[in-house]
Amino acid sequence: MTDSTRRLLADAARRGADYLESLDRRPVFPPETAVDRLRSALAGEMPDAPAQGVQVLDFLEEYGTPATVASAGGRYFGFVTGGSLPATLAAHVLASAWDQNSFSHTSSPAAWLFGDTSLRWLKGVFGLPAQSAGALVLGATAANFAGLAAARHAVLRRAGWNVEEQGLRGSPDVALVVGEEAHGTIFKILPLLGFGRAHIQRVPADEQGRLRPDRLPPITGPTIACIQAGNVNSGAFDPAPDVVQWARAGGAWVHVDGAFGLWAAASDRRRPLMAGFADADSWATDAHKWLNVPYDCGVAFVRDPDALRAAMSISGDYLMLGSKDPIDLTTDGSRRARGFDV
Ligand SMILES: *Cc1c(COP(=O)(O)O)cnc(C)c1O
Repeated sequence: MTDSTRRLLADAARRGADYLESLDRRPVFPPETAVDRLRSALAGEMPDAPAQGVQVLDFLEEYGTPATVASAGGRYFGFVTGGSLPATLAAHVLASAWDQNSFSHTSSPAAWLFGDTSLRWLKGVFGLPAQSAGALVLGATAANFAGLAAARHAVLRRAGWNVEEQGLRGSPDVALVVGEEAHGTIFKILPLLGFGRAHIQRVPADEQGRLRPDRLPPITGPTIACIQAGNVNSGAFDPAPDVVQWARAGGAWVHVDGAFGLWAAASDRRRPLMAGFADADSWATDAHKWLNVPYDCGVAFVRDPDALRAAMSISGDYLMLGSKDPIDLTTDGSRRARGFDV
């Protein structure tokens, strides 16, 4: 490594630390003048000539820093946005230097082992079945996609239909049962899986936004239900024991959106909120929320590993991959190695 690369990385780390130390003094949302200044600085065409690394850092610091949102600090209360902890940030910086591609165990044994271990430990934290498949993905939206794709595969397979081969044209109807206060991402993901919003059955919610179990419809065929652990407005948890009992009796799949709520399982005081959720079939959560790892990091779990693999597997023996390789369990191929931060 040239001395200038070493100096450049140390320089970036120093500037990052300066920024973190300034968090308690800077405005949480940037002043309009700072955003205008950045917009003007970026208004020109792409430069023809290369720049030195330090010039890139200078530009980022001079124009970028003042236009950031101080969401990494303790005075930020917008959205459900987490800030990274020092250890996860430092790991993220080191892992960026490693620049590992974590799509399979052969693309990076280190990334694979950290990822696989993270998922195994998180199953323990959440109290989920040990044999469940897990995957580190972009966020809870992507994790909802993974869980619901596995659900689509499984409920249709039980009805004698292979959706990956045949598609949805001519398939048996799948009933989609969702609490009316489900997170917006559910109403984005179901259409991506071929389920139109007009066909989603929205179960009325109580005053806390909890799906009302007395309003669950009768199950008459392949059915997928989505419940949430943690309503973004009230924090409330859907009544998982009632929904799981209803689903088991009728052979329905239960998917849990627990983007931030699943982490209640890590707290002795809050764990009772999670009653019944581990009996579901698939779960989505975010490590970039309560675990406070840097963006981006979602986590998907599916009780039946074969269902997730059937939904996501890249066909055949592409690159001679193993059956637990991340590329076979998610939509993504090349990806960063989120397991190091987790
Ligand atoms: C944040 C959140 C999501 C979406 O997660 P992303 O990480 O932004 O994709 C989904 N559901 C709930 C309940 C959330 O809080």
